[in-house]
Amino acid sequence: MFNKQMKPLIACHDCDLLQYKVPLKPDQSAQCVRCDAVLSHKKKDALNRTLAFSLSGLILFVLANIFPFMTFQFEGRAQINNLITGVFDLFDKGMLGLSFLVFLTSIMAPLIKLLGMIYIVLPLKFNKTPWKLKTVFRAIQTLSPWAMMEVYLLGVFVAYVKLSDLAEVIPGIALFSFASLILTTAAADYSWDPEIVSERLNSN
Ligand SMILES: [Zn+2]
Repeated sequence: MFNKQMKPLIACHDCDLLQYKVPLKPDQSAQCVRCDAVLSHKKKDALNRTLAFSLSGLILFVLANIFPFMTFQFEGRAQINNLITGVFDLFDKGMLGLSFLVFLTSIMAPLIKLLGMIYIVLPLKFNKTPWKLKTVFRAIQTLSPWAMMEVYLLGVFVAYVKLSDLAEVIPGIALFSFASLILTTAAADYSWDPEIVSERLNSN
């Protein structure tokens, strides 16, 4: 809640008391004057950490998409699968909705989220405001819940267990990159501090 002529206000999540927002230093928290609940917390070194994790995430994303994900060997034949193979297979079988959903949750949403984070954090680190900051920030917040790479990985493990009796299943570089990407994205999410973005939007 903010008006340029007024001081910014914040409502307590627990008791709803409205109070003035105070500028915080990194690793500092603001508490509610009535019930002591934490109103906001400024994360330590948020910009550098988010940038480092999202850049590593982007490299892992590229590796996960260009290298083989899994290779199936059966009676002398080998079938190499990539991350996108499942999407094409579903599309070919006429399951358009499911194919789009897999593409959205395991490829498109994670990529846009990583690129968006870098787009916001990199200029902010050099004290510059990225163009259309509010729009990009909102897009990331909306898209974030759709990045569900761990569901895809779970599906891969189920397939691995079921198929390992029938064929030899060899995990590829992309599978390890994808698993690391899930961890890196989680770390980027944890370091990400929306408070910095709202402060910048309010100061313009
Ligand atoms: Zn309170």
